[in-house]
Amino acid sequence: MSKIQMKTPLVEMDGDEMTRVLWKMIKDELILPFVDLKTEYYDLGLPNRDKTGDQVTIDAANANKKYGVAVKCATITPNQQRMEEYGLHQMWKSPNGIIRSILDGTVFRAPILISCIKPYVRTWEKPITIARHAYGDVYKNVEIRSDEPGTCELVFTGRSGNVVRKTVQTLDEPGVFQGVHNKVSSISSFARCVFNYALSTRQDVWFATKDTISKTYDGAFKEIVGDIFEKEYKAKFDQLGLTYFYTLIDDAVARVIRSKGGFIWACKNYDGDVMSDMLSTAFGSLAMMTSVLVSPDGNYEYEAAHGTVTRHYYRYLKGEKTSTNPIATIFAWTGALRKRGELDGIPELGQFADKLEKACLDVLEEGIMTKDLAGLAKDNLAAKGITVQEVDSETYLKTVRARMEREN
Ligand code: NAP
Ligand code: MG
Repeated sequence: MSKIQMKTPLVEMDGDEMTRVLWKMIKDELILPFVDLKTEYYDLGLPNRDKTGDQVTIDAANANKKYGVAVKCATITPNQQRMEEYGLHQMWKSPNGIIRSILDGTVFRAPILISCIKPYVRTWEKPITIARHAYGDVYKNVEIRSDEPGTCELVFTGRSGNVVRKTVQTLDEPGVFQGVHNKVSSISSFARCVFNYALSTRQDVWFATKDTISKTYDGAFKEIVGDIFEKEYKAKFDQLGLTYFYTLIDDAVARVIRSKGGFIWACKNYDGDVMSDMLSTAFGSLAMMTSVLVSPDGNYEYEAAHGTVTRHYYRYLKGEKTSTNPIATIFAWTGALRKRGELDGIPELGQFADKLEKACLDVLEEGIMTKDLAGLAKDNLAAKGITVQEVDSETYLKTVRARMEREN
């Protein structure tokens, strides 16, 4: 059996804990036997980030910009407890945050659907992809809590010397205040990422804010995104029969629940944070959520939406076999290989990605799955006369591999 040849390397970003263990298993069982894999490897595991003063994360992000396509394993974002656990020199920032800001990208999350796991919302037939604007608003706020009466003001001092001053509120009692901001450049990049991704995946775009209440702030989002659509994308959307649709966030929520799915829901930062958790839960499982970071100039970084699955890793360290679901991480690999194939004109890579994804899902439909899915699928499969076999990660991967080899 000859292996598929690659031209350009994938940027491979290794990570931490249970997902790092799965990473190697996935490569050994499902990628290396079939693809003559070319990668440029960056070890983003916490020990190496600490050793390199986090330079490795910056280098990996720059490599992503150079080559265009990366695949990333989940990584630990350190907190105080991790500082002690790993004896860190510093509480390093979130690698995803660093990569996102270097690429100036937007994150798209979509669930993987299978027939034996029904979404909680009965009308949903296709995945809903959430695009979260990941800069500013409440995530870069300044806050004041006062314990006495007083006046809070908002003051803008322009470079020209022009000053704008507004009273937020005068209170006769203690209170809380918050200042938030966003940038026209960031909102514009977001719009372009979303519209480019919509064109490449042939999906409609919905976007919503609360511009009836926040006329200037949310109004700017509505206007900037709408203008970019009209000037740069409308013709291309028309050609493909796609639409862009703007509405109020509360109306969007109601329509999303009644919809059949199959579109991109573009969200402001906070809405995207909340709604992506709502969607992943409603579609079934966090372990079945894929994630891709797309930059406005067309660089892609694929990963699973879940974290490093720490609880499972501690059991693994004690020598136990864990039933950790590798599917979202496998789909990160297939997403990256498919995109690499597309960019390099190697259709075999795309066909391999399709085949591997199908094999992963076919094995589930036969009832062989990890613990997280077993509970969700049991009744639906029983109705088809199939008994669920709850397996550990290794057994699941070997079953998928056997299927791939049979069909090759
Ligand atoms: P998590 O790793 O996503 O795990 C949370 C829980 O969800 C797990 O304990 C497990 O539940 C279940 N789960 C998640 N993925 C699963 C899978 N593939 N198979 C089976 N079950 C799965 O989130 P966390 O525990 O909050 O975070 C752990 C570490 O990951 C943290 O250090 C955090 O910084 C990092 N993190 C990284 C990323 C990223 O790199 N993109 C994202 C989020 C978090 P049960 O234990 O009940 O089985
Ligand atoms: Mg969240």
